[in-house]
Amino acid sequence: MIFDENELLSGEKLKKLQLERLQKTVKNVYENVAFYKNAFEKKGVKPDDIKSLEDITKLPFTTKQDLRDNYPYGMFTVPMEKIVRIHASSGTTGKPTVCGYTQNDIETWSILMARVFAAAGVTKNDIVQNAYGYGLFTGGLGAHYGAEKLGAAVVPISGGNTKKQIQLLGDFGSTCLTCTPSFALYLYDAGKELGVDFSKLPLKVAILGAEPWSEGMRKEIEEKLSIDAINLYGLSEIIGPGVSFECIEEKSGMHINEDHFIAEIIDPATGEQLPYGSKGELVITTITKEAFPLIRYRTKDITVLSEPAKCSCGRSFAKMARVTGRSDDMLIIRGVNVFPSQVEDVITKFSSLSGHYQLVIKREGRLDTLTIEVEATDEFARSVGSVVMSDGTEALAVTHEKVEALKHNLKKDIKDLIGVTTEVKLFMPKTLPRFEGKAKRVIDKRVI
Ligand code: ADP
Ligand code: ZN
Repeated sequence: MIFDENELLSGEKLKKLQLERLQKTVKNVYENVAFYKNAFEKKGVKPDDIKSLEDITKLPFTTKQDLRDNYPYGMFTVPMEKIVRIHASSGTTGKPTVCGYTQNDIETWSILMARVFAAAGVTKNDIVQNAYGYGLFTGGLGAHYGAEKLGAAVVPISGGNTKKQIQLLGDFGSTCLTCTPSFALYLYDAGKELGVDFSKLPLKVAILGAEPWSEGMRKEIEEKLSIDAINLYGLSEIIGPGVSFECIEEKSGMHINEDHFIAEIIDPATGEQLPYGSKGELVITTITKEAFPLIRYRTKDITVLSEPAKCSCGRSFAKMARVTGRSDDMLIIRGVNVFPSQVEDVITKFSSLSGHYQLVIKREGRLDTLTIEVEATDEFARSVGSVVMSDGTEALAVTHEKVEALKHNLKKDIKDLIGVTTEVKLFMPKTLPRFEGKAKRVIDKRVI
């Protein structure tokens, strides 16, 4: 279903609206954000040079680093009195990326998310169990406002709380579930253990996103929970969830809300714009945001854009394929963005650790686990002693209280700074691999 008429815009009408909005946005950032004035000048471009949509390639890119350099509010175009909401997503050095919204931005976002629910067949008669996390993360509140905008009844349960989730699915008769795809499967496993028959629940549809998943996973979720599973994409910097979404009619690629965002695919190495159908990095320009508009934001997400064509849902908005990877090293562990450099920063603060480490990610059961394998220094190893294992290798005396304390402190600092719970394995000095070229720090064993 369609939520509002603008969703049906296509062809020249859409292009005309996009150009008007782009020109307005470009002028706004040039006049109100020092970063953009400088960046435009460096590229030798002025707002008046943007005469057609193709001229977008004349504009500079914006990166996460730029947002960090202007932390916290340097990219906002309006005074603080106009800001009504602040969200944040994890940055690479412990400093988050800060996203501000005016009242109109919240209204826009709510409409975009209402479109997502409508496209998934949700109506005001539905009950939406919103298991995205509420808080600084945009998932929870984004879905919440969208479902309310549509007129559905929202159950704001937030993430976690598995037993309660399962109880409410039955007792409240939730018909729509919003969460990460891995959490949907986790709920299924937990429910099964409690003897829940998912085919008897009123649940019809799940709107899943915030992390990469596959067609195989969709099939598994749909079969096990007896529902339709819909893909939803977004990122805080751009607005949050609701940048693009699948329609239940086709479930093949996510329609981009093109009346609010201009999407491009670029070659991540050269920055050159690529034609429809090419695989590359998604770049987005926001054309209606007031507080925090972004010009050519490099999402680092790798995907393919398909040429706009009329879809059986009625929309003609271009579709983007599933995100298949990232052009940077960001990891998503249980919905939390983690950069290896953040972990490294924490590790290097410990004088008992050698600085050699490796991050091992697995999907155990349904959820991601992150194990940090780190090496002790010679000095530390000598001070606690070692034991010879059954296979002849030497290991640290793991029961030693100094070993336990070190592991505990590392775990705690990582949890405090990055927000993700980890396992820590402490290794003897010089036992982790060394690299002559680029170090391979991440061993991702997840099969999704
Ligand atoms: P959010 O709060 O919306 O999750 P974040 O900024 O924390 O936003 O994370 C955004 C990132 O999450 C995206 O850049 C992308 O890498 C990933 N992501 C979000 N939705 C999806 C999806 N449906 N499929 C794959 N990756 C996704
Ligand atoms: Zn469609």
